Amino acid sequence: MRIDKLLANLGFGSRKDVKSLLKSKAVKVNDEVIKDAKQQVDPENDVITLHGDVVEYKEFIYLMMNKPPGVISATEDTREETVVDLLEIEDAVFNPFPVGRLDKDTEGLLLLTNDGKLSHRLLSPKKHVPKTYFAVIKGVVTEEDIESFKKGVMLDDGYVTKPGDLVILKSGETSDIELTISEGKFHQVKRMFESVGKKVMYLKRMSMGPLELDETLELGEYRELTTEEIDMLL
Ligand code: URA
Repeated sequence: MRIDKLLANLGFGSRKDVKSLLKSKAVKVNDEVIKDAKQQVDPENDVITLHGDVVEYKEFIYLMMNKPPGVISATEDTREETVVDLLEIEDAVFNPFPVGRLDKDTEGLLLLTNDGKLSHRLLSPKKHVPKTYFAVIKGVVTEEDIESFKKGVMLDDGYVTKPGDLVILKSGETSDIELTISEGKFHQVKRMFESVGKKVMYLKRMSMGPLELDETLELGEYRELTTEEIDMLL
């Protein structure tokens, strides 16, 4: 891989910026100053330094975001703000994309990565990756709803859902619930409640497979997954 492409991909500026870094003798490969932007390097084996600091090479980036309401789960949009617009440039250079979608008004755990294989695995209907949501529902959620969700409910298009695990945290004028489902139909949680005549007023994803939302992340904040978290997913 060309040194200028590698450094630009890693977020050290545009190709032009990287060219001036090279010109200023800031870059060394295996202890040798490299000024030629076309120099080929082996990112896995060569030791590359910038101003004396080792440049860590990574192919993939894995980010956990606490998605705020009001932004869409897409990489770009002409009118709406997207979750990728919330990323710092040094993370955005990896071209991460959201793994699955949360509705515009839904909050919570959203994984962004450029690892297509992992994304495919997490989203594949065959893998039945469980997703847990916290929701506030208008009105009383009942034991009957728990039973209905356990059996599967029919959505407005005739699709019957796979068993869902509904836990009532608080029931009253509004009810707090947790729902775990292992599929990801469009607006699934909202439509499941609609099928029992109830309305979701607030929705937040808490977990996806083994990955749990880091509650220290404010809405709109994100962080890289830890190596333990990545290993759990891979
Ligand atoms: N179910 C929904 O209805 N909306 C989401 O954003 C996620 C799951």
